[in-house]
Amino acid sequence: MTSSDHITSVSTTRGDIVRVGQLYRDRRLDNVRTLRVDGLSGVGKYAKASCTVIRQNYRGETTHPMRTTTPSVARLVSSAFVLVTDDREQIAGVIAEHVVETITQGEDRAVLIDCSCGAEVAGTLGADDESFIGSTQRVMAAHIADMVAEATGRDGTR
Ligand SMILES: [Zn+2]
Repeated sequence: MTSSDHITSVSTTRGDIVRVGQLYRDRRLDNVRTLRVDGLSGVGKYAKASCTVIRQNYRGETTHPMRTTTPSVARLVSSAFVLVTDDREQIAGVIAEHVVETITQGEDRAVLIDCSCGAEVAGTLGADDESFIGSTQRVMAAHIADMVAEATGRDGTR
C-alpha cells in the first residue's frame, strides 16, 4: 500500500474526473461489464483505476465476477466506456436478479430461501402476527438491500 491508494479522484487532461465509487459500463451491446472504481493510483497519463467487475452481462446471462481489473484512467473516460450516472437503473437491475425460487422451512422457525441469484438466504420467521409471506418478504428485503449495497459500492443502510 502506498499513499497513492488514498487518492479519491483524478482529472484527465481532457478535464474528465474519475472518482472512487463511480460505475463505468462497457459501451457495447454484449459482454457488458460494470466496473466499480475502488481506487486510483498514478498521475497524468499513467493514472490507473483499480476496479471491481461487479456485473457482467454476456449473452443474456448476468454474473457478478467480482474480479479486479486495472484499466488506465484514460481508457475509462474514452468512448469504450459509459459512466453510469443513473443509479436507479443500476439498482433496478440488481433487484430484478433476486427472486424467490424455493422456500424451505426448518426447525425453530428457521427458513431457507433459494434466491434466483444462486444464494441461499437464511432467516427466521417472525412472530405469530407476521404472516409467512410477510416473513419471507422481510428476509428477502434484507438480502436485496445487501446486494444493492454491494453492487453500488455503498454501505448498507441497515
Ligand atoms: Zn439473491
